[in-house]
Amino acid sequence: MYTKLKEEVLKYSKDAFAGKLFAGTSGNLSVFDRENKVMAITPSSVRYETMTVKDIVIVDQDGIKLEGDHKPSSEWKMHLEIFHQLDTVNAVVHTHSPYATSFAVVNKEIPTILIEMVPFLGGDLKVSKYASPGSRELGISVCKVLRNSPASLMQNHGAIAVGEDLSKAYIRAEYIEDAAKIYHHSLQIGKPRTMTEKEIKDWVESWD
Ligand SMILES: [Zn+2]
Repeated sequence: MYTKLKEEVLKYSKDAFAGKLFAGTSGNLSVFDRENKVMAITPSSVRYETMTVKDIVIVDQDGIKLEGDHKPSSEWKMHLEIFHQLDTVNAVVHTHSPYATSFAVVNKEIPTILIEMVPFLGGDLKVSKYASPGSRELGISVCKVLRNSPASLMQNHGAIAVGEDLSKAYIRAEYIEDAAKIYHHSLQIGKPRTMTEKEIKDWVESWD
């Protein structure tokens, strides 16, 4: 059952590995089926190159495994906490992508320095407070930022993006790393200019 959900998780996991958002077996992503109240999530400790649809794990809303040969990602509690707290979110992409994680390590948020940050990341990229990996507390911590923004850096850990579906969460994860990379490079050659509130407002209004 849930083949479509599993195929989607597999496709974006392979994309994330090919796009260097995931490395080794780190990073994880999930989708939540609100009708059936089940989550499809990447397995723990399976390499992305060899991952198949059978490796994707299905758990119920309490984290009880329903399908899959492996354990769910060690961050399954964080993923479920997000789906429980934020009812417009149906997909989560969590990475340890290197530029974004570097800013998370120095606890430095990324101001709105790029036009793409406005539509894709909701503006400034904030840092959520450290909590133990694998804990529900980590989910509670990231939700404090994700309640008002679709993306967050995670102190001493990585980055996280959410969306109403996996395609939206995934492109956000790509833009998190892109913004972090450009901010890093721009800090080397000068003082990055942050977009003004008026510029952001005018641009948002131009979408209508
Ligand atoms: Zn992680």
